[in-house]
Amino acid sequence: MQGERRNLGLGIAAAIVAMGIGTAFGSVVLDRSESTTGPSDAALKKATSEKPPKNVIFLLGDGMGVQEITAARYYQGAAEPLTVDKLPFTGFNTTWSVKPGAGDDLLPDYDPDSASTASMWATGKKTIDERISQGPSTAEDVPGKTLRTVLENAQKRGQRVGSVTTAEVTDATPASIASHMSVRVCQGPENMDNCPLETKQAGGLGSIAEQEADHQLDVLLGGGQGRFEQTITGGPDAGKTVLQSAQENGARYVTDAASLDAVSGHEPVLGLFSPGTMSLEWSGPAATTGKGNAPVACKEGQRPPEQPSLAAMTSKALELLKNKKGFFLQVEGASIDKQDHLANACGQIGETVAFNRAIRQALSFQRNNPRTLIVVTADHSMANQIVTEDAEGSTLPTGYSANLLTKDGQTLSLTYGTSGYGGPGSAPTASPPSQQHTGAVVPVWAKGPGAIKVLGTNDETDLFKTLGG
Ligand code: MG
Ligand code: ZN
Repeated sequence: MQGERRNLGLGIAAAIVAMGIGTAFGSVVLDRSESTTGPSDAALKKATSEKPPKNVIFLLGDGMGVQEITAARYYQGAAEPLTVDKLPFTGFNTTWSVKPGAGDDLLPDYDPDSASTASMWATGKKTIDERISQGPSTAEDVPGKTLRTVLENAQKRGQRVGSVTTAEVTDATPASIASHMSVRVCQGPENMDNCPLETKQAGGLGSIAEQEADHQLDVLLGGGQGRFEQTITGGPDAGKTVLQSAQENGARYVTDAASLDAVSGHEPVLGLFSPGTMSLEWSGPAATTGKGNAPVACKEGQRPPEQPSLAAMTSKALELLKNKKGFFLQVEGASIDKQDHLANACGQIGETVAFNRAIRQALSFQRNNPRTLIVVTADHSMANQIVTEDAEGSTLPTGYSANLLTKDGQTLSLTYGTSGYGGPGSAPTASPPSQQHTGAVVPVWAKGPGAIKVLGTNDETDLFKTLGG
């Protein structure tokens, strides 16, 4: 079914080219490849190219569903385009994972997590929640089949590979392209309690951090020093920290923005810029029950300058990865989801804006390197909703709300209502507990060779081939 849908998409696109519709619209906007009104003839020609892309830049906004991207858009100015609008091909992906079970016919789980979803584009296969690029099984603690990832395939082709995130580099999204694990919490050698069969002592691949060190990524940037400072307890590197092991594999280690900026050349780079998740760009009012706070603007510029921005990490990764054979780079805006969980509207929007700045770096690289495919998407939808600013009395939102004063001087009312009730008939708890993911399809945007493959409604597993898997 997925293949049929994609073919239909290609058929429509070919018809558009044949009918010259692109030309008829050509005079409306001067540079239509950079517009929000649809693809230019040149963009269409490139997107339908049979030639595979040389470079692939995959940008992932964790939890950046349509509500989250729209909240960032409206906060910045309702009529102002976002950088992601410059990618002319758009579609939707379904994101469902599967429930544990035996055999091939597993039941769908409509509300997936970031491990099962990342494993979908990383491997092209459905799996269960919590799982990192292993197939499904009867239970979380029963390891699944190791599945080859899009990053491993790129390495096999002799291409360079990189991963950039604002989370710990061992968090589920970056973990899924460069490791295989039954449960996502098994991030460092001292965090293996849930994965006893997969330690190096047990003959397994070791923790996610150990696997990332063993994979020798050309560029690995983000947070998570704590995992790499843990000591390896089995295998040939027993007694060393994961960091020492990575350095002995040839990685240069940097820990602040200035040192990252100074790096050049083609030897591998490991940049870890905080003990855990990297710092947020913005802060703002806490969400509360009822109508929420009087509208205020977010406080911008909160990230400490010694931590590089996602855009700065992306730009440096592109500079370091560029080579004759091409590369695969994944870039994650991780804390869109993490702040959405906390019902922190300004935190979430600041990270979405920062993610858009990283997309700008990718587009700028593509302008000088046209054989580059850029794909942008979210892994799953999330809790945030844009609701009426005029609510009162019995129409007040039932979750946790925050009111922001937008750049247009208007009130943007945002609410979070997927978690927080004590039971039937009870009111929300005083402070918001972790909000839950939601199950709606996610948008996907693309530009460059093969971009047309994202058209229509597909499944997240279809990204695997689009990204060169
Ligand atoms: Mg993530
Ligand atoms: Zn989440």
